[in-house]
Amino acid sequence: MKLSLSLMFCICVFSVHMLQAFPVALTFDDGPKPGYTEDILDILDQYGAKATFFIVGRDAALHPALILDILKRGHELGNHSYSHLRLTELTDAQIRLEIQAAQDLIFNLTQKKMVYFRSPGGQNPHNLDAILKEKKLSYGYWTLNFGDFMLGDSSGIQKKINTNDVTTLQKEILGRIKNRDIVLLHNGNPVTVKALPGLLAALKQKGVQFKTLSQMKASHD
Ligand SMILES: [Zn+2]
Repeated sequence: MKLSLSLMFCICVFSVHMLQAFPVALTFDDGPKPGYTEDILDILDQYGAKATFFIVGRDAALHPALILDILKRGHELGNHSYSHLRLTELTDAQIRLEIQAAQDLIFNLTQKKMVYFRSPGGQNPHNLDAILKEKKLSYGYWTLNFGDFMLGDSSGIQKKINTNDVTTLQKEILGRIKNRDIVLLHNGNPVTVKALPGLLAALKQKGVQFKTLSQMKASHD
């Protein structure tokens, strides 16, 4: 009797634990950017988290070592165009070039093809779907956006951070996160980097498993 009760207790605790676990995909737009990307990678490692980095081709060309480090640590790369121009102001030919140039650069550097594309500033021209289909890319949409790129000041040498911004960002994400959310964050913002350790610790407590977009898709289909 004693044995079966303790067994039931174990099964119960195990089930509750299983029910609480859910996947979330953190995505970081822009960069790679020295002084930010390394810190983000170290923090992700510390919490055993995998993420997706929507890189800008122009920045990747300047910092190829950071691109290789992102991949080496088990994260995914996504295409965020070559020059980070507003696609709504470009011709179809220019849009194709913006996407393909970033795609080619990453392939030459890593021998890997990125499978997701996300427009700069989320500005999607009406013909983007057709172009992505032609290039065998999926749109890297998001479900949660907290406007982290507007917080802090990354323009000067001194990274200016308002502590309130850090706690607000953490609280908002924690309060709204749910199963299979795709969180839009930015690679190059001091507030985001500062908020990340506390955020990851709290999300892990909630049972969040941090996956890349491809890993999360694979666990669904
Ligand atoms: Zn961007």
